[in-house]
Amino acid sequence: MHTDVSEVLFTEQAVQDRIRELGAQITRDYEGKNPLIIGILKGATLFMSDLVKRIEIPVELDFMAVSSYGHSSESSGVVRIIKDLEQSIEGRDVIIVEDIIDTGLTLIYLKNLLQQRKAASVKLVTLLDKPDRHKVDITADYLGFTVPDHFIVGFGLDYAERYRNLPYIGVLKPEVYQS
Ligand code: 5GP
Ligand code: MG
Ligand code: MG
Repeated sequence: MHTDVSEVLFTEQAVQDRIRELGAQITRDYEGKNPLIIGILKGATLFMSDLVKRIEIPVELDFMAVSSYGHSSESSGVVRIIKDLEQSIEGRDVIIVEDIIDTGLTLIYLKNLLQQRKAASVKLVTLLDKPDRHKVDITADYLGFTVPDHFIVGFGLDYAERYRNLPYIGVLKPEVYQS
């Protein structure tokens, strides 16, 4: 285990097992369809790359990068699009892939935006959810794991761009971000 991590919440094996289940669920739910899977850069990339390998129907992939306006680490709810989709999504079944729902403000904004662009359907899949932190009424259609209100790193999730490459999901020691 990395010395900056206090606790492993989900091992690499546990994550892969859960992703396999989510892939099977999505495969069943989208039978006969050709969904567009949209990963939110950069946190969702590791999860997305493993998830799509477990989806056994034709899919297309695209990415968006967003940042929330305003101060600090707290989401403001006003989202700036850094990188947009490469295609129209009108009439498409869209699945947004996120790393973690914290306040939920980012995903609510994105879901509304993609619905305004006339997607046929918009569903959310997130690796992690912190329900205690939600500021809006949001429920993922597909959820990997619920996590407590700690700062989580690994499997795509960063602190100051580090720790994304940890193959497990863990809690970052508070002294790392308090120093
Ligand atoms: P929100 O749901 O508040 O709009 O923002 C979610 C985003 O905040 C996530 O996509 C992620 O980038 C970041 N975030 C929220 N909680 C954590 C956490 O515990 N660890 C890390 N690494 N990022 C987090
Ligand atoms: Mg994210
Ligand atoms: Mg981050």
